[in-house]
Amino acid sequence: GYHKVVTENRKLYNMVQDLKGNIRVYCRIRPAFNAETKNVIDYIGDDGSLVILDPSKPRKEGRKVFQFNHMFGPTATQDEVFKDTQPLIRSVMDGYNVCIFAYGQTGSGKTHTMSGPSEGSIKDVGINYLALEDLFEISSRRKDIINYDIHVQMVEIYNEQVRDLLIRSCASENGLSLPDATMHSVKSTADVLHLMKLGGVNRVVSSTAINNRSSRSHSVVTVHIHGKDISGNILRSCLHLVDLAGSERVDKSEVTGDRLKEAQYINKSLSCLGDVITALAQKNSHIPYRNSKLTHLLQDSLGGHAKTLMFAHVSPEGDSFGETVGTLKFAQRVSTVELGAARANKESNEVLQLKQQIDSLKKALANKE
Ligand code: ADP
Ligand code: MG
Repeated sequence: GYHKVVTENRKLYNMVQDLKGNIRVYCRIRPAFNAETKNVIDYIGDDGSLVILDPSKPRKEGRKVFQFNHMFGPTATQDEVFKDTQPLIRSVMDGYNVCIFAYGQTGSGKTHTMSGPSEGSIKDVGINYLALEDLFEISSRRKDIINYDIHVQMVEIYNEQVRDLLIRSCASENGLSLPDATMHSVKSTADVLHLMKLGGVNRVVSSTAINNRSSRSHSVVTVHIHGKDISGNILRSCLHLVDLAGSERVDKSEVTGDRLKEAQYINKSLSCLGDVITALAQKNSHIPYRNSKLTHLLQDSLGGHAKTLMFAHVSPEGDSFGETVGTLKFAQRVSTVELGAARANKESNEVLQLKQQIDSLKKALANKE
């Protein structure tokens, strides 16, 4: 009875959400690893509500309440998380641009949600893999009416430099821009596993050179979809899957040199992300996408007609309380953004025919000259 009502309500809510085109915010709490420290979680609601308790205060004074589109508690499985994300991911196959990003302090479970416990292994795989698996399934189910091509790129942004994770050689001094990153055609989940393994290896290689680099960089998997249906309509869209650098604030008095530089770059790009979202919320005419590599790269999938989902990751342990509140506040701010309804990128047959006509006229003209 009750659960059915909640589920129905959520369905309705998601439909309204789709129309409004808000950024959706899901919050995931990882299991507690340290039984010694106090657990800050007081209540997790089916409706996306969360109550946490400040471990340093009496119960009544330390209560903080948050509301998200969905809550995943410590026992939520990878499949449960994926199930609630699936409709959004599937809309990529209908021509919507989609961006999913994982936000939170280091150790809160971002990589677990996006990649899984270990890159390139099938056990407990995360959204990146499950999403591609699902896209292949849809592609094969629709093969008689629409022909899809799927390509994947995988880059890392470290200190405002973009590096291709799918080639072994290092990028030039200044890094590269996303269009220059190698595109890899994928036709099966085996292809995807192979690429993710390669990307994972390349990421680890650099993380031994610079200590713990993987948590100091953003990693972005981009899936490009190209579809052509039987009447010649073209559909183009992309899905960005982003594992952000740790959002924790570093104590300025404790870090120097390279660490300080890293921290400043991370602060800058995460605050640029916040600025872009705020500008979208205020419907400003200028959205500062170009202020960081991250927002520049995600430009086509943030705001406008795209669908965006943010996973706010927190740990339940009392000693992370400050960072947890910071993450939840940022997430709460993000969830109030209204972007306007999402729109698919489809070209009608008519437009396509006109474009072909223009092309052939151009060719004819070139031949005459
Ligand atoms: P982050 O990427 O945010 O730094 P990780 O994803 O690496 O954090 O998670 C830190 C540790 O916690 C890893 O050992 C990871 O396997 C584990 N972990 C995170 N979330 C979960 C979860 N939901 N269930 C089980 N283990 C988890
Ligand atoms: Mg990580």
